Amino acid sequence: MKNNPARRNILQGLIASAVVVGFNPLNRSWVTSAEAAQSFINLPHLDGVLYTDDATRTNAADDFGHLVHRYPKAILKPGSIHDIVNIIKFARTHTLKVAPRGQGHTCYGQAQVEDGIVIDISTLNKIHDISTERVIVEAGVRWSELLQATLPQQLTPPVLTDYLELSIGGTLSFGGIGGATHRYGMQVDNILELQVVTGEGHLLTCSLYQNRDLFETVLAGLGQCGIIVRATIRLIKAERNARVFLLDYDDLAAFTHDQRLLIEDKRFNYVEGQIISDPNGGWRYLLEAASFYTPPNEPDNISLLASLSYTRGTEQIEDKIYFDFLNRLSPTVAFLQSIGVWSNPHPWINLFVPGTAVEQYISEVVSILTLADTGNSPILLYPVKTDRFTLPLFRVPNEQIVFLFAILRTAPSDDDTTSARMLADNRRLFERNRDLGGTRYPVDAIAFSQEDWQQHFGSVWSRLVNAKRRYDPDNVLTPGQGIFTGS
Ligand SMILES: Cc1cc2nc3c(=O)[nH]c(=O)nc-3n(C[C@H](O)[C@H](O)[C@H](O)COP(=O)(O)OP(=O)(O)OC[C@H]3O[C@@H](n4cnc5c(N)ncnc54)[C@H](O)[C@@H]3O)c2cc1C
Repeated sequence: MKNNPARRNILQGLIASAVVVGFNPLNRSWVTSAEAAQSFINLPHLDGVLYTDDATRTNAADDFGHLVHRYPKAILKPGSIHDIVNIIKFARTHTLKVAPRGQGHTCYGQAQVEDGIVIDISTLNKIHDISTERVIVEAGVRWSELLQATLPQQLTPPVLTDYLELSIGGTLSFGGIGGATHRYGMQVDNILELQVVTGEGHLLTCSLYQNRDLFETVLAGLGQCGIIVRATIRLIKAERNARVFLLDYDDLAAFTHDQRLLIEDKRFNYVEGQIISDPNGGWRYLLEAASFYTPPNEPDNISLLASLSYTRGTEQIEDKIYFDFLNRLSPTVAFLQSIGVWSNPHPWINLFVPGTAVEQYISEVVSILTLADTGNSPILLYPVKTDRFTLPLFRVPNEQIVFLFAILRTAPSDDDTTSARMLADNRRLFERNRDLGGTRYPVDAIAFSQEDWQQHFGSVWSRLVNAKRRYDPDNVLTPGQGIFTGS
């Protein structure tokens, strides 16, 4: 018992924060055991720990963007799903707002809450059951952990994000896009069942066959109607290796033409692409594609590259272990962490551009874009097919092919002027794309009004409003998205 890490964590929490035993509704502050008096309301029973110390609050008032800081009153590290039920009921009674937080990798305070309670879902991290077609996991599990658990059985989730250290609950609240999306849709399109705690503190199971309305408003629902606590995720057979192709283009139209061809004929398992700086000035395009295989069934390079018009002789072809390919950002992230750049501000912009407008839009953007505008950071551009998308709240342009366009900007630290300039540019780029029929993938940093949200959701706005009324009638959940402002 002495060396039990779970018990040690709990004790550390109690020491850090004194023991929070209640909430004083008169002055809206927590009451510790040392101050216990008759005027406070007892906290519900918790299997985990409620933290109120400055260090934990400061951490929860930050995210990967480092642009927005909202200080919560407390952070719950739940020891069970019932802790989430109990704390939401408690918050509702005391008109406190609640923000679920996975790994805090959004850019603009989406998982933060001023004066409310952050629920740090990362302590719900069990992988329960892996069978040949599906896995049941808690929402705080990271995709890297899930993949490491399924691969020994030669199984994999169909779609993985470029970075695997994101929580399952966090990405399912947005969508979850990756290089396999052209084949299998978003991560949310591969969920068979969820367990959700609603804004009323009800624990419900939902799927296409049970509580379908909740299922369809929680997946890609930006945390507005419920907190995902458990997910059943579809699995497919995993191949052992990935043959990775990097193909260079100097012409945007040729690049997008070939990307479209590849997602239509599906000759590769994975298709993405980047806009990269040309050493001679301007921009070039890098098509990234991968074919997954298990030896001795090697892919045929000649047929994979047939009829593509990349710059001949510049292609790079490399074989990788499947996991290493999917986890390829890990060494770069470790390097950026080691030099401190990972903790710089990240005014990212992520958009979906209509396929019919992409050449026009991207030509306009790159004609004035400089490396200083991006902070020398990656720019993603790749197409996906919308016929794979099944969730109403996941908003993309109304076309068969749309392009993810993302400038993953890094601003210098201690330079608010540059961050503000990048944020203003995000708004300009968003508006131009919106006027062409485009949408936003809202993991990023764009100032958004309620009117913008209404326009974003378009024909499903009333569906979201009705679901919010039904599942979170007191507007307790996830205020950091800024969709339902006010009480
Ligand atoms: C380096 C990097 C690479 C990325 N690559 C990709 C990519 O390839 N594809 C892609 O789609 N996205 C990508 N993203 C964006 C990423 O999907 C989102 O930022 C996602 O939210 C990250 O998960 P998280 O666990 O950090 O969520 P958080 O930032 O903690 O939360 C995100 C939002 O979801 C809510 N939320 C959190 N947990 C739950 C839950 N259990 N139930 C309901 N709501 C919840 C939060 O309140 C918040 O509003 C990337 C981000 C980074 C920083």
